[in-house]
Amino acid sequence: MTEMTSKLDELFKLQQIDNQILQNMRRIRQIDKVEHPVQKKHRELNAKLEAFDKEQIPFKAKAKELQDQIAAYKDKKNNVDMKLDDSQTDPKELQFIFKEREQYTKLIKTAEDEIVKLMLELGNVDLKKRGFVEQLNDIEEEFKKVTAERAADKERFAVEVEKLREERKAFKNFSDKTLLSHYQELQKTHDGMAIATIEDTDDKDIKVCTGCNVEVSLRTLQALERADGLVYCQRCGRILYRQG
Ligand SMILES: [Zn+2]
Repeated sequence: MTEMTSKLDELFKLQQIDNQILQNMRRIRQIDKVEHPVQKKHRELNAKLEAFDKEQIPFKAKAKELQDQIAAYKDKKNNVDMKLDDSQTDPKELQFIFKEREQYTKLIKTAEDEIVKLMLELGNVDLKKRGFVEQLNDIEEEFKKVTAERAADKERFAVEVEKLREERKAFKNFSDKTLLSHYQELQKTHDGMAIATIEDTDDKDIKVCTGCNVEVSLRTLQALERADGLVYCQRCGRILYRQG
C-alpha cells in the first residue's frame, strides 16, 4: 500500500463520518422543522380554544365587576335596613329611607339580570369550545405518542452525532495538513463529497465515478492503479478512491 493510498483510506473514513454527522443533523433539523400532522392538528385546536378563551375574558371581567357592584349595593341596602329597624330613626325620614331601599333593590336586580345575560354569552362560547375539546381529546393519545417518539428519535440522532464527533477527533492528528485542507475545500464545493469511489456497471468495461455517475476513462483508471498521487474525476473534479 502506498503512502497516498493509506492517506486516502483515512480521508475516506473521515468523509464517511462527516457525512453521517451531516445526515443525523439533517434528521434532527427535519424533526424540528416539519410538524407531524397530528401535532399540527393539536396545535391548531389549542389555538382555537385559546381564541375562545380570549373571547370570554371581557365577559368574565364584566361579570366580576357586576358582582362587586352587587356586593356594594347589598352593603348599602343592609345599612338602610338597619336604619329602618332602629327605633331612634326619625319617622319623617322613613319615607326617604324606603325610597333609598327600593333604589338599591332595583340596582341589584338590574346587575343580576345583566350577569344572567353575560352567563348566556359565556355559555354559548363554552358550547363552541366543547366540539374542539372533544377533537383534542380524540387525538391526545396519538399526539403524546408521536411527540414522545419524535423526541426519542431526536435524542438518538443527537447521541449518534456526539459519538461520531468523538470518532472524528482521531483525525486531528492527520499528518498531511495540506491534503487535509485540500480535502476540506473540495468537501465544501462538492456537496460534502470530496472523495468519490469507482463503481462497476453492468458493462464490465465501464466503471463510473460515484460522485457524478459518469464513466471514468481508462487513463484515469490506470493512474489510479499506480496510486502514486491524487487522481481526480475528469467530470466532477472529486478525488477518486479505490476501496481496498
Ligand atoms: Zn465524478
